Amino acid sequence: MSQASEGSRSLHLSQLTKEFATFTAVKALDLDVPHGSFFALLGPSGCGKTTTLRMVAGLETPTSGSIRLGDTDITYAKPYQRPVNTVFQSYALFPHLDIYENVAFGLRRRKSGDVDRQVKEMLDLVELGTQARKKPPQLSGGQQQRVALARALINRPDVLLLDEPLGALDLKLRRAMQIELKRIQTEVGLTFVHVTHDQEEAMTMADTVAVMNAGVIEQMGAPAELYENPRTTFVANFLGQSNLIAGKVLGAEGDFVKVDMHGITVSIPQERAHVKTGDGWVGIRPEKVLIAAVGEDIDAPGNHLDGGVVTDVSFVGVSTQYLVRMPWGQELQVFEQNTGRRRLFNKGESVDLSWRPEYAFLLDASQDVN
Ligand code: ATP
Repeated sequence: MSQASEGSRSLHLSQLTKEFATFTAVKALDLDVPHGSFFALLGPSGCGKTTTLRMVAGLETPTSGSIRLGDTDITYAKPYQRPVNTVFQSYALFPHLDIYENVAFGLRRRKSGDVDRQVKEMLDLVELGTQARKKPPQLSGGQQQRVALARALINRPDVLLLDEPLGALDLKLRRAMQIELKRIQTEVGLTFVHVTHDQEEAMTMADTVAVMNAGVIEQMGAPAELYENPRTTFVANFLGQSNLIAGKVLGAEGDFVKVDMHGITVSIPQERAHVKTGDGWVGIRPEKVLIAAVGEDIDAPGNHLDGGVVTDVSFVGVSTQYLVRMPWGQELQVFEQNTGRRRLFNKGESVDLSWRPEYAFLLDASQDVN
């Protein structure tokens, strides 16, 4: 496939809006999904993910805006006219047909080529080649989900939409299927747009994640970029735990912005400082914070905070999670990996905290922290 034709099958949403009576579920969404990418729309319940997906599938008519696949405008095309398929959480398999016939169904209807070869290929891809003659109720949830996937992929859509497809599976199976889905996507090279409210799921699978909140995309990027450098408090909190500490910008100094944080001057890299003057939230992920006994020499150049007291200790296997009360009354979270090389700190113990400046970020103080 040439670069030009790859590009020509990219998905573009432009100012896409959906209003239900007086409520705007999706607000002027702009989105470019390159062909062949694994894209996740991540956000809490009710933020407009499914509505966006349904508009791309043609199951919902946009109030305004457009949807293009390459150069073709498909905003008002009928669902069956779009090279788009959807896998839902409910597998919607035909219970009376065996796995083979479930997968062959779409091809037979379209009288499409060598059905037997294509079905066998697809069943092999989802590793169900040996289960072809079983009926759906004889399969596990994960296997049924893979049948649904094979059935959606067999028509070779340009875009496969996945609406919380793993939501009905238990945690262990869900983790296994996440890896499986990623493998299949890489193998078939099609565009997958995956809707989920599970940040770990989105980050595990997607090349690009768009974080949605109240009908708008707050931030979009590679999982690590969103996690390490969130631009809003919503993204910082939705993608994991973060400590947000009130501060006041003092000014710039080289590659850093200096911030006064309860009388302590801390440095934030310029590219992570999303406010340059006035008040801000200094953000630091709990696993980036180092904890040390008072006077202990820890080799950490950076932002030092003295005078902490451990108020809670939770041992969670791979890590120990501390709550540390700082002199200004706020409790900070600290996650320390259990390497076995250090002793645990006790509740009530005095400790000092520190972190490397390059891990911190600074957010607009006018935003809610919860
Ligand atoms: P979930 O993860 O719970 O499915 P979501 O992010 O997918 O949530 P949507 O299903 O897109 O959210 O819904 C977005 C908002 O639009 C919700 O507040 C929902 O109540 C509203 N909504 C969705 N469909 C309709 C409809 N047909 N009529 C009125 N309001 C609707």
